[in-house]
Amino acid sequence: MTDSKDTPVIEIRDLHKAYGQLEVLKGVDLVAPRGHVVSLIGSSGSGKSTLLRCCNLLEDSQQGSIRFEGEDVLWKGTGLARHPADRMQVTRIRTNLSMVFQQFNLWAHLTILQNVMEAPVTVLKRDPKEVEEKARHYLAKVGIGDKADNWPAQLSGGQQQRAAIARALCMEPRALLFDEPTSALDPELEQEVVRVIKALADEGRTMLLVTHDMKLAADCSDHVIFLHQGKIEEQGAPAELFGNPKTERLRGFLSATA
Ligand code: ADP
Ligand code: MG
Repeated sequence: MTDSKDTPVIEIRDLHKAYGQLEVLKGVDLVAPRGHVVSLIGSSGSGKSTLLRCCNLLEDSQQGSIRFEGEDVLWKGTGLARHPADRMQVTRIRTNLSMVFQQFNLWAHLTILQNVMEAPVTVLKRDPKEVEEKARHYLAKVGIGDKADNWPAQLSGGQQQRAAIARALCMEPRALLFDEPTSALDPELEQEVVRVIKALADEGRTMLLVTHDMKLAADCSDHVIFLHQGKIEEQGAPAELFGNPKTERLRGFLSATA
């Protein structure tokens, strides 16, 4: 691992991923420099979630390389993390690349505060008192400081997703991975989550953002990648990509989502 400021947080080269005979990623490159937001757009089934899942080692892959802050973290073939040293690396990577899912996956039997504290206390073995202070801080940051002692079922979808973001932040990760964080929400609740994501982008966090919300991608990304059937069809700065799409496929995609 190097500690150069210029080392990208995430660097993916020529990534190939198949599920059995189904080739899902066919040679994808992606670089997320520190402090940048890289958005992934594309039709359903184009491989966006798979790409995120490969980054934090929820999936293995067959070819190519994935680096996290210069450290090679790619697994080839099956049998993720059989060796104890590998398991430690997996924990470290997942801690540092914290994922927020479309379905917020809060534990129903834990309060909001307990949900946010759970991983830092049980996985990272941090001091519960200190974690509680941080958890309250992040809950306040996403605007639900008053919900700490509620159960997930007592919150709206937008509040639950903000709790899930606070939970990801409480790991104090090096980067956040968002997989369609607003698509399970009613339109009127989307905006409260969009505001939180934009605020995180503004404070210079490194993020990979899979989204169907082109306005969000346009507003907060440094770089946008359009995936089509497991390949990068087009990519660039948001103004360029959205303002002047070059390929027929991207033009078609953007007019269908507008
Ligand atoms: P996206 O997030 O862009 O909608 P995904 O990455 O979820 O796309 O899926 C890409 C392709 O991989 C789809 O054809 C999907 O059906 C397939 N796929 C995803 N996960 C699995 C899995 N666990 N097993 C088999 N096929 C999968
Ligand atoms: Mg997906």
